[in-house]
Amino acid sequence: MPRHDDDYDDDDDDRDRPRRRRRNNTGVPCPKCGCRSARPGPWPWYLGTVGAIVCRAVICNECEHEYDQKKPDANLATRKRNLAIGINAVGFLGIIAVIGLLVVWLMYTMNPR
Ligand SMILES: [Zn+2]
Repeated sequence: MPRHDDDYDDDDDDRDRPRRRRRNNTGVPCPKCGCRSARPGPWPWYLGTVGAIVCRAVICNECEHEYDQKKPDANLATRKRNLAIGINAVGFLGIIAVIGLLVVWLMYTMNPR
């Protein structure tokens, strides 16, 4: 019996090679010096992954300027503060909602019929 599927998984080998070189190339020029090379900047834990979706802090490799890759012209400190306020507000509302639902559920289940 001849086997036809011998070279089936040879196709994927070269597929993700072109992307590997772009690790430090942000594509967004630094607002101060125009350099396109930047590394990830410090990210406060309280902003977490939610904040990282909205904002991406990077540090320019040329002039050490810290900026937001998604909004290079905005003031990063202000953005971080607004994000922290927003995330805390959302978290606070979430906790209130959970407690409220819990109370409603308790009242519903304890309600004698
Ligand atoms: Zn720069």
